[in-house]
Amino acid sequence: MSPDGSATLHDYGDAADIRSVREQKAAARAGAGAPPRPLNLYARRAQVYPRKVSGRFRSLKWAALLGLLGLYYVLPWVRWDRGPGAPDQAVLVDLNHERGYFFFIEIWPQEVYYLTGLLVLAAVGLFLATSLAGRVWCGYACPQTVWTDLFMWVERRVEGDRGARIRFDKQPWSAGKIGRKMAKHGAWLVIAFLTGGAWIMYFVDAPTVVRDFFAGAASESVYFFVGLFTATTYLLAGMAREQVCTFMCPWPRFQAAMLDEDSLVVTYNRHRGEPRGPHRKGQAWGETGHCIDCKQCVAVCPTGIDIRDGIQLECIGCGLCVDSCNEIMAKVGLPPNLIAFDTERRMAQRVAKEPLTYRLIRPRTVLYFLMLLGVAGLMVVSLATRDDQGVSVLHDRTLFVQLSSGAIQNSYDLKVLNKARATRHFDIAVEGLPGAGIVLVGRSTRPAIRVTVTAPPDGLGEYRLHLRAPAQSVTSPETKIRFVVTSEDGGTTVRESTFRGPKAANR
Ligand code: SF4
Ligand code: SF4
Repeated sequence: MSPDGSATLHDYGDAADIRSVREQKAAARAGAGAPPRPLNLYARRAQVYPRKVSGRFRSLKWAALLGLLGLYYVLPWVRWDRGPGAPDQAVLVDLNHERGYFFFIEIWPQEVYYLTGLLVLAAVGLFLATSLAGRVWCGYACPQTVWTDLFMWVERRVEGDRGARIRFDKQPWSAGKIGRKMAKHGAWLVIAFLTGGAWIMYFVDAPTVVRDFFAGAASESVYFFVGLFTATTYLLAGMAREQVCTFMCPWPRFQAAMLDEDSLVVTYNRHRGEPRGPHRKGQAWGETGHCIDCKQCVAVCPTGIDIRDGIQLECIGCGLCVDSCNEIMAKVGLPPNLIAFDTERRMAQRVAKEPLTYRLIRPRTVLYFLMLLGVAGLMVVSLATRDDQGVSVLHDRTLFVQLSSGAIQNSYDLKVLNKARATRHFDIAVEGLPGAGIVLVGRSTRPAIRVTVTAPPDGLGEYRLHLRAPAQSVTSPETKIRFVVTSEDGGTTVRESTFRGPKAANR
């Protein structure tokens, strides 16, 4: 507090020096202090120097950061025994062998619809979270936010808090300044390299790729992608930061469609805060609003905006301005939450002095929840009932052949997918064509009612079949038939196909 008893909190810095990005850009466009000149539609990026803050939402952000980064870096090292011949990494997208592994689940290329299901789940989950709590994804869980937060923490450790960094950047270049800048960028590059390296480990066995990488024995694509992800992490989290959220990310553009008057968003309680202005000790609070215009909410904002201007596209909903303002409110002896996560409806109710209500169950939240439940349920049922075998039957391009014996022959390509970890035998039979016999090309010459094929462990057996039927059985140019494929452990797969024959006039 100042000696005259002013409650303006100069111990946080001079509020007059704190300007939101918008104010800085507006001043730059107008050429503040310079003679009038034509309106400039371009303004240089205003550097944001967020101040350190503590409070409930900052703690939540730290918890989210530690949890998510821990998960990201540790997950590739978690092992999962799948038996001999199979990778033992719990989470792995094995592009070389066209398999996806997630603990006990193994996904084949034919089952890529599970990935679609996951993406739909993620999208609907995001819609639900946004309609309930605004941009919580952006503020707490988006990789851009998480890594930017980590990079800012490093920056603060090396260059100091907001005021120190502003002064440091204004200093002329010296050996000390170069050294500290190099330390900061060096630490950023190490984090970026670890991030890029960890990303690659989701696609190749983690211990193997680490050993090969440092021995110079990894593939060129590994070096390329580690370099690429190192560079993008460094540039996006270290340099671009809030510019990604403001100019590159499409999500802020359409997330407004998920919000309504009952969505929790970071809001300034204008009714309580205005008229804003410095407050002197002993002055009655009725004369001024509760906002003392200290601008500490602006100083901590990672995107450099002033939330008192209303909800803005740049606001990522991190809640740090809530923490900052609550610190100020505590110091001046006022109740917290002048800035708060609140809904438009509750703000209006406050003004009207009506009881405050929060509607969790609304048409859109119910719809999103049901969609989430439906897709998740479908995926669980599909996973629980998925077959460990797959069959495809493709009719030959040649419609049919009439043999010298008068029998009609059709040919087919048969593929049997064996998802088990052991070689398995499969019996093939055909229904719907009396007297038909199967010839397994390369294995037999005499037609049989049933033939047996083999498929390798976790692999595909490919066979060519001739299906022969006596001419009198072929009563139609196109007879519907069914291939019945039964594994040695009793699993049955049925595939429908057709058996072609001559038209009646040609028989
Ligand atoms: S809203 Fe709170 S933190 Fe922001 S200027 Fe007003 S009193 Fe300060
Ligand atoms: S205005 Fe507040 S909630 Fe929005 S980004 Fe800035 S600090 Fe976070």
